[in-house]
Amino acid sequence: MTFVGTIFPIKNWDAVTFIMKDLNMSVQFLKGVGPERARILKKIGIETVGDLITYFPFRHEDRSHLKLFAQITHGEEATVLAVVAEHQIIPTRGRRPLLKILLEDGSGKATMVCFNQLYLKDSLPPGTSIVLHGKFERTFRDLQITNFIYEKLAGEEDDLIHTKRIVPIYQVTSKLNLRFLRTLIKRALDSYLSYLRETLSETILREYNLMLYQQAVYNIHFPSTREKGEDARRRLIFEEFFFWELAMALRRRQVKIIDKNRKYQLRKNLLTAFKEKLPFDFTSAQKRVIREIFNDLMSPKPMNRLLQGDVGSGKTVVALAAILLVVENGYQAAVMAPTEILAEQHYLTLRQMLEGLQVKVELATGKMGQKKKREVYQRIVRGESQIIIGTHALIEQGVKFSNLALAVIDEQHKFGVMQRARLRKKGENLDILVMTATPIPRTLTLTVYGDLDVSIIDQLPPGRKKILTQRLSEEEAYQMVIDGVRKGQQAYIVYPIINESDKLELRAAVKMAERLMATVFKDLRVGLLHGQMKSDEKEQVMMKFLNREFDILITTTIIEVGIDVANACLMVIEHSERFGLATLHQLRGRVGRGTEQSLCILLGQTKTEEAKKRAQIMLETNDGFRIAEEDLRLRGGGEFFGTQQHGLPEFKIGNIVFDHRELELARQAAFQLISRDPILTLPENGVIKQKFREKFKEKFGLASVG
Ligand code: ADP
Ligand code: MG
Repeated sequence: MTFVGTIFPIKNWDAVTFIMKDLNMSVQFLKGVGPERARILKKIGIETVGDLITYFPFRHEDRSHLKLFAQITHGEEATVLAVVAEHQIIPTRGRRPLLKILLEDGSGKATMVCFNQLYLKDSLPPGTSIVLHGKFERTFRDLQITNFIYEKLAGEEDDLIHTKRIVPIYQVTSKLNLRFLRTLIKRALDSYLSYLRETLSETILREYNLMLYQQAVYNIHFPSTREKGEDARRRLIFEEFFFWELAMALRRRQVKIIDKNRKYQLRKNLLTAFKEKLPFDFTSAQKRVIREIFNDLMSPKPMNRLLQGDVGSGKTVVALAAILLVVENGYQAAVMAPTEILAEQHYLTLRQMLEGLQVKVELATGKMGQKKKREVYQRIVRGESQIIIGTHALIEQGVKFSNLALAVIDEQHKFGVMQRARLRKKGENLDILVMTATPIPRTLTLTVYGDLDVSIIDQLPPGRKKILTQRLSEEEAYQMVIDGVRKGQQAYIVYPIINESDKLELRAAVKMAERLMATVFKDLRVGLLHGQMKSDEKEQVMMKFLNREFDILITTTIIEVGIDVANACLMVIEHSERFGLATLHQLRGRVGRGTEQSLCILLGQTKTEEAKKRAQIMLETNDGFRIAEEDLRLRGGGEFFGTQQHGLPEFKIGNIVFDHRELELARQAAFQLISRDPILTLPENGVIKQKFREKFKEKFGLASVG
């Protein structure tokens, strides 16, 4: 936390510094912590007192209802209020003596069996009242408890934290005791809660019926009732989403106030020629989104648009239309792909589509030699090449352009909000078109791409047949491949891993390629493509497959995105149970690109329930949006929003799937706020501005705030 600026009128600076010092104080200096425990706490991200009190429990246990000994059945987990009656110390052979504490509660008796806890003899003398929680075992004579948690009742003002209440359960480590952490958090809350500053304005708190921040932080740990706990959670989730959406709203606004200072006109020298050359007509969905994009391009404000369309819906030609408008007006356009292989394929496709037109397309890849690189960069900086294709990394870094005006980003889900912000910094007023085939339910689109306008291609080119999906045996699958190849078709066979490993009993691409080439496919032409190959090798293999020099391509998920071989209409996915729905859908999208009937064959065992459901969904539908929804339901959006994807927001307690209601409310609140008070100048919004700066300013480069 840094404390800068003068957002809300601060009269007493000393007090402020004092406050900040306290929440920023190392936990080491709290009573009972010290350097060793501080190190342990650091492992779970707790360094300061502020970290400690905002280390939220992942669940609660309701131990508020007391039971009587007489009511407890065998194996029941219960909380009781009892008095220590007497101690028994039972000698054991060779080991420390065993302590048994006999308890009474008026309804009956029970025994606490204390292994290695002889010291309880002194801390729980006869006559002590305790609240005890744990799992009880009932034998025919006796009620016993071995694993327990207890608290002494001190007197009138009992402030119990581990029992006889709704108890917070925290994520801990083997070295960090839950009880200790809970006590520590309670103590810190008691002393430091009042130093927490409110982060939302009164208007928003009132309008959305939210708890005050301090109240929420207390109640998320130690709620007096379930409802209080829920309200606290809701307030904190709202807040978390709110600041994210505020960043979106500000980014959007920021883009909208810039003038891009360039004018495009439909000159028709390239565009018209291109359209005439195309072997097909645009679908009406394509026409619609091209219109939307052209409107953006012709407007004085920079474009910031997401183009969503299922695999095979024809996004490339749409992007190309946008590119050509820019190029025929004398500017440069860059196309950024997530991998080199895709960049190369875009290059080939575009060059082919633009053959005979006066446009220079340039491929800039990481593997170019020094000399080549210098030449390519020279041509780009001199403006001799108009369309530059490369990977995200490449274009984000080194390349200098002569007059870059449009950036097309392909397969967006690997390219997040932060990178977009960075890219925008490169060219203040770039027009940006982001393309994604990842079908995302609408609410989520708003979160992840909340700063973008959205165009959707919701129609496939005509003549496409639905891809059939089947589960077959291996023999049947190989036979289908052989039959397909006889008919002149090509096939992909996809494996989950490249090389065999000791840990996983899975078939791997390299080994299987060898084996299949020597056996069932010995008369066919088989190629191998995977991520560990050098890029020129990859390119060669791809070119050969594209030119039908291979019948079969044995590969991995490397082909998940983008590769377009219309003649390949068979796909076999080995160990399909190993892939998530999003991946399966993307893989399947590699076939069904031409006019022939395509087939996707799923091999593998569906042992788990989830794998069974996934297979079932794949067999049932081709609709990417439906698959995305199912994925959300099955795994909470795990695959789309898993850690492997960069740039997506990471929320501490909010979950964009399960808490989507809060998300929508927070979005509404944030966008309304920015439309009323665009740079947060109203005094009432000072608290929000302050919090926002701490959180986001650096990351987003939002110059307009403050
Ligand atoms: P994606 O949206 O998955 O990127 P592509 O742009 O690669 O899809 O297009 C898939 C295939 O469909 C390409 O071979 C492309 O040439 C073709 N295509 C695109 N638009 C049309 C259309 N309107 N009619 C027929 N074929 C089309
Ligand atoms: Mg594509």
